[in-house]
Amino acid sequence: MRRNKKTDLLPNETNVKATPLPLQKFESVLLQRQRELQQGLNRTVVQALKSAPEGTLDTADQAVFSYQKEMLFTQGTQHHAQLSQVRAALRRIAEETFGLCLHCESSIGGKRLEAVPWTSFCIDCQERMEKGEIEDRTRVA
Ligand SMILES: [Zn+2]
Repeated sequence: MRRNKKTDLLPNETNVKATPLPLQKFESVLLQRQRELQQGLNRTVVQALKSAPEGTLDTADQAVFSYQKEMLFTQGTQHHAQLSQVRAALRRIAEETFGLCLHCESSIGGKRLEAVPWTSFCIDCQERMEKGEIEDRTRVA
């Protein structure tokens, strides 16, 4: 891993626990992702409005329409869930806790963060969560 010799940390920054991460890089990736998701959500809303039925629909049309609505809803929900993860990650950058697992507070690791910069958990906790051994507090109900 490449590490900058020159530090650009603020002089009053004393409580950095994790290995220095390229925060600016992660921040720009996250901001970009946030824009994409936001645009995706807007599109989904526009699409949902546009697909509103005009006049009378026969039964087949109605089935298609409600299926489409459901798809858009699912898509929107997923976008929304990821958007809140991205926002939470940006908040953690601001609060200088970015890169720490929300569950066990150990360092998540640069490689994992590069793959999924909005992740909130280390790989161990993520796996335990998927098995249902621990609770995912960030999951949107
Ligand atoms: Zn963890």
